[in-house]
Amino acid sequence: RGEIALRIIRACREMGIESVVVYSTADAGAAYLDLADEAICIGPGPSAKSYLAMPSIISAAEIANVDAVHPGYGFLAENAHFAEVCRANNIEFIGPDVETIRRVGDKAQARDAAKAAGIPVVEGSAGPVEDDDEALQVARKVGYPVLIKAVSGGGGRGMRISNNDISLMHNLASARSEAEAAFGDSSIYIEKYLADPRHIEFQILADRQGNVVHLGDRDCSVQRRHQKVVEESPSPGITPDLRRKMGNAASKLGKSVGYHGAGTVEFLVQGRKFYFIEVNARIQVEHCVTELVTGIDLIQEQIRIAAGETLNRKQSDVKVKGHAIEVRVNAEDPDRDFTPSPGLITRYEAPGGPGVRLDSHAQGGYRIPPHYDSMIGKLLVRADTREAAISRMQRALDEYRIEGVKTTIPLLRRIMRDGDFARGDYSTKFLDALLSG
Ligand code: ADP
Repeated sequence: RGEIALRIIRACREMGIESVVVYSTADAGAAYLDLADEAICIGPGPSAKSYLAMPSIISAAEIANVDAVHPGYGFLAENAHFAEVCRANNIEFIGPDVETIRRVGDKAQARDAAKAAGIPVVEGSAGPVEDDDEALQVARKVGYPVLIKAVSGGGGRGMRISNNDISLMHNLASARSEAEAAFGDSSIYIEKYLADPRHIEFQILADRQGNVVHLGDRDCSVQRRHQKVVEESPSPGITPDLRRKMGNAASKLGKSVGYHGAGTVEFLVQGRKFYFIEVNARIQVEHCVTELVTGIDLIQEQIRIAAGETLNRKQSDVKVKGHAIEVRVNAEDPDRDFTPSPGLITRYEAPGGPGVRLDSHAQGGYRIPPHYDSMIGKLLVRADTREAAISRMQRALDEYRIEGVKTTIPLLRRIMRDGDFARGDYSTKFLDALLSG
């Protein structure tokens, strides 16, 4: 819904493809719905009754007689069963095969696939841990601190750091029950907890004919509670040699699991070493960073691949030019521990000018519903150098005026003016340190 629905509608328009958008009653009247050729209401505000209600979505798709469904991100985007139901109804699901979604969506299996392809993974359990004894053995072998992660995890949820046997025993039970409640799957696995890694991921594109290319990296180390806040490409924290190795590893993994569509291979980098952590089998929020430095429209590529087309570029045709930064503007109150701040936007001035891109469904008079995530939009800039991109982002953030709801803009301004960020000297610990300092 929201900005990604708008993003997909725009891609379709440019390709001459008709689009049908589904919405809940909480989103009724939103301006972006008018930009689609057709809009169909699929239920009330709570997502369980609308954006997660497969029968309602499939009925809408059948009524509109669509050829394909783009799941966006979140909601059902990585739900293998939904992909299966679409295909059973002769509707193309824009994403990889059902089996691939299942395989990479299980983070323990994805680790196994990476290991089998010769790609380094963070030291940890071989597959899910069956019981507390096995967890203890693994933790003692890799050494504390360790991280308990949900096999079906996502969105930074369900992770627990343990520093010793006692906290491990305590956290295992709570991690399992949180994972069961959030993902309907209580299985967990264990990784060594790296001290201050960078999160660096590679965008891949793969067609059904087995061709895979990567489109460079994105540094997503600026995170709060394991959720990304700022993303940039290229990363200021890796050497060209490491970048080449990681890119090759990402493509190799895509090939080895028979991936097709757009996907992301995520790594942690500690020192000069990189470790695979997971694959995201969907378009990601931060895909636009890659679009700005490569000039490739990822949504249009997804649609072409779903239509069976062959990739029209080889790895050597992919060129990363300049530098791009994205910030996520959320309706949250940074002064009140980032509690969501839904409600009416009373004043809205969008930034513009050279090198600025704003992907947002919001505008003055738009009411942010309380039911969904709190993202108002993504502000992006591109410039020839990283330094110029930071100046441009500072300028664009100063132009962006949103009143009526609290936003993360003041925090984003602070990050863009931070000395360590300017030097590119940051890890996943950066934002917590900034916020507590
Ligand atoms: P999710 O699927 O919930 O997003 P990820 O496995 O992608 O979870 O991890 C999210 C973030 O958590 C990473 O970007 C990183 O900041 C942190 N993280 C994950 N695994 C480790 C680890 N082994 N050591 C240190 N930090 C980690």
